[in-house]
Amino acid sequence: MKTTSEHYDVIVVGAGPAGCIAAKRLGQGGLKVLMIEQRRVIGSNVQCAEFVPLTISRHAALRASDIAQHVQGIKTFINGKLVSTLRAPGYVLNRVLWDEYQAQLAKAAGVSIMTATRVSGIDGKDLRVSNGAQSREISADFILGCDGPRSIVSKKLENEPQEMCVALQVERMLTKPLDHAEIYFDPAYYGGYAWVFPKGKTANVGVAIHASYKDKLKSALADFCRKTVSMGVIQAGAASVATGGLIPAGGLVKNLANDHMLVAGDAAGCTHPITGAGIMNAVVSGDLAARAVILQVSSSGREQVSKNYTRTLLEEYGTQFTIASDRLMSRNQRWTDNQEEFSALIRRSWIAFPEYYMQ
Ligand SMILES: Cc1cc2nc3c(=O)[nH]c(=O)nc-3n(C[C@H](O)[C@H](O)[C@H](O)COP(=O)(O)OP(=O)(O)OC[C@H]3O[C@@H](n4cnc5c(N)ncnc54)[C@H](O)[C@@H]3O)c2cc1C
Repeated sequence: MKTTSEHYDVIVVGAGPAGCIAAKRLGQGGLKVLMIEQRRVIGSNVQCAEFVPLTISRHAALRASDIAQHVQGIKTFINGKLVSTLRAPGYVLNRVLWDEYQAQLAKAAGVSIMTATRVSGIDGKDLRVSNGAQSREISADFILGCDGPRSIVSKKLENEPQEMCVALQVERMLTKPLDHAEIYFDPAYYGGYAWVFPKGKTANVGVAIHASYKDKLKSALADFCRKTVSMGVIQAGAASVATGGLIPAGGLVKNLANDHMLVAGDAAGCTHPITGAGIMNAVVSGDLAARAVILQVSSSGREQVSKNYTRTLLEEYGTQFTIASDRLMSRNQRWTDNQEEFSALIRRSWIAFPEYYMQ
């Protein structure tokens, strides 16, 4: 590919939370920014259970309509029994609205947005973009990969495929409102867990399991729905169309940046390896990546983007993710059908229990 006439200071690939926050910050920094998104409608279809901590509002704008429900915290069930109630106030979002709003804010900051357009190749600072049958080349001084778990930018940075969980989710009617997000551990959900995250009268009901067990995902979700119907949590009856996706579980990728490419959010492995939570981390890492680019530009190259970004991301997540990855690996190696042993195993490897922090 040759350098093209269509040139930007920064191209952001992907308009999820990481991409929108990064693009907004870069636009506010006075840079010429293009954000490219393969979906026709930003935020749709939602592939997420939408639970975020209350503190997200310190990092990203939130309107009342973006919040489906407030929750007080997390209830944890092991083998069908309630074993912990953790105070951790949060929201279950309407991500379809919230993601779209983040894109609007980026646009208001001067960012150009291309939807229904896929980045299909990267060669140096040139990107090949395809829109249906048409394909063309665009270039940028910096390429910011916010393109999720199957990131083309991360691959270009020579990162190995990440350790993944696979998830499947439906929306179901609740029998009564819930004021907590509910997490269920069961030996049948290998390497992961199931959840009921309330949205008023309905809830996101899903299961995530280690990717090596993906063949069992559908039956795990059916099993979980049956159990939560019999526990009186959700109503019997029709579910919405299933949605799902990949959740990185290996911690930060090795190569977070070079002199002109960076990755943030899921593309950088910013999902918490144990909880699978990635929305807040996408927002924070997207912002840090944008700041590192702005710093390099404003210091005329004296502040190296790669060094700065890698350092700040490791400071933010290094220790936390290393501990979580250790717990995850140890838990998966010892996964068992024995109910007592399983219960002890989860207590050592789930963030709601003191044992998690004591090792
Ligand atoms: C079923 C499920 C449930 C989850 N539940 C929660 C939860 O409750 N709470 C939580 O915090 N996290 C949850 N997560 C994780 C969370 O959804 C992600 O961590 C978060 O969305 C990451 O944001 P991102 O911007 O990095 O990536 P994404 O939201 O994945 O956005 C990436 C964007 O890039 C676009 N893209 C990809 N490749 C290209 C390309 N080549 N060209 C152009 N565009 C491209 C995609 O279309 C997408 O819009 C869940 C994940 C799944 C799968």
